[in-house]
Amino acid sequence: MLKKFVPSYLVDHFSEVKIDKLIDLNKKLVLCDIDNTLVAHDDPSANDDVKNFIKNLKDNGIDIILISNNTESRVVTFNEDLNLDVYPMALKPSSKAYKQIFSKYKHISPDEMISLGDQVMTDVLGSNFNNIDVILTKPIVEKDLIFTKLNRMFENMVIKRMKKKGLWPNEKM
Ligand SMILES: [Mg+2]
Repeated sequence: MLKKFVPSYLVDHFSEVKIDKLIDLNKKLVLCDIDNTLVAHDDPSANDDVKNFIKNLKDNGIDIILISNNTESRVVTFNEDLNLDVYPMALKPSSKAYKQIFSKYKHISPDEMISLGDQVMTDVLGSNFNNIDVILTKPIVEKDLIFTKLNRMFENMVIKRMKKKGLWPNEKM
């Protein structure tokens, strides 16, 4: 069970995700979190860095979709000038949205998918439950919503324990 908390790769910021590495790994689809992964949770829209990141992926034949536990209105507003496929209210780490994604993207196997998110308790756990590789990024800002704060407390405990056991990855992507 403890291994389900372990991300496949670590980055400090989404801009460090190496497209070449994703190509080497034969990844075709990125399941991307929004809040504190691409922008701060109170930042309504995508900035140029986010837009460039998405363009760079697409230019290299890698598709990206948004999978967020936040509300439909937050996700739809954020997506206004991105026009990505979106999965709001995803209830990560539950399998709800992942199952929807698997049935919509039948031509892409879970092996060819990779997640990107900032939380162990939602993004990492949900991806590992569904056998999808996952990149854990540091949060964009330290400020979190109250529910996320609770997740962070638990997350810090888990990470500490896994580091002690030598289960936490040392290498950056
Ligand atoms: Mg997040």
